[in-house]
Amino acid sequence: MSGRILDGNKIRDEILKDLQKEIEDLRKGGINPGLTAVLVGDNPASQIYVRSKVKTCESLGLFSEKIEWPASTTTEQLLDLVDKLNHRDEVDGILIQLPLPPQVDTKKVLEAVDPAKDVDGFHPVNIGYLVSGRPGLVPCTPAGVIEIIKRSGVEMKGARAVVVGRSDIVGKPTAMLLMHNHATITICHSRTRDLPAVAREGDILVAAMGKAAYVTGDFIKPGAVVIDVGQNVLKTEEEVRRVFRDPTEALQKLAAKGSVLVGDVQPEDVREKAGAYTPVPGGVGPLTITMLMVNTVQAARARRGMRAQALTQS
Ligand code: NDP
Repeated sequence: MSGRILDGNKIRDEILKDLQKEIEDLRKGGINPGLTAVLVGDNPASQIYVRSKVKTCESLGLFSEKIEWPASTTTEQLLDLVDKLNHRDEVDGILIQLPLPPQVDTKKVLEAVDPAKDVDGFHPVNIGYLVSGRPGLVPCTPAGVIEIIKRSGVEMKGARAVVVGRSDIVGKPTAMLLMHNHATITICHSRTRDLPAVAREGDILVAAMGKAAYVTGDFIKPGAVVIDVGQNVLKTEEEVRRVFRDPTEALQKLAAKGSVLVGDVQPEDVREKAGAYTPVPGGVGPLTITMLMVNTVQAARARRGMRAQALTQS
């Protein structure tokens, strides 16, 4: 028996369709939400991420702007830029693409962003709102995880939810959102004893650890809903053979594309054991940029004293 696939691309399209309408309505009222992405240095992955964020903005008709600065940029220069963006009225969202170069004090720069424009939801003020369950800007990937769960009709109320990973960006906020949706949560990390046994308690299991196919069948309660946040790139035949029991298809992909993307969950095990699961690629990944767009529109509304549309959080 195969588990139900929770299709992130389909859910992305549903959300973007609703968002498009909301943007059109805002436009009629003279509001054109805008996002500024700040890219420092020449990290190729960051360049790809920023390009696709700007492209998504454009496809929705949102105002977008990309500011690219060299790898030698200092903390002071970035603080000055952030201050200017904070004061520009047409900028609703400020996105500082991470990682910043090593000489830059990343925390200081992120904390300088006006919390009302912090569309990544990383500012301590927004983290405080999240923890206390008040409306604010929620980190995009965790917000995407919750949208997938909700839109797939999975009941969170009363469910046991286990989150593997405790990062500020994914693990902790995801656990908070699950809790606000009335799941009983357990957060695991690298010091958790007998991780498979703890993970097996989860009616909902979220894997966000950054370890290719680490979560195998013995971590999964039969019939559980498994959300795989992991994005790990396999580049060699040896890596592919280590991850897949039947590597035929993945090896073809490797030969054609030069790499294979896998999550933190073993893909064949999850298919056999879970009741429902997000595939990689095509699960959580497509939701992250989508939720950034949602946050930009939400920031535009909130800055003008308008209520947010009930999409996330509640
Ligand atoms: P981090 O490296 O910041 O955090 C990883 C977490 O996993 C840590 O809390 C760590 O524990 C825990 N962990 C690592 N190894 C183990 C282990 N063997 N057993 C138990 N816990 C372990 O990663 P992120 O949270 O930033 O990202 C997690 C994954 O999600 C990555 O694959 C990343 O690529 C992906 N990601 C995907 C996104 C998307 O759009 N789909 C967006 C963001 C991230 P400890 O704290 O003890 O070190």
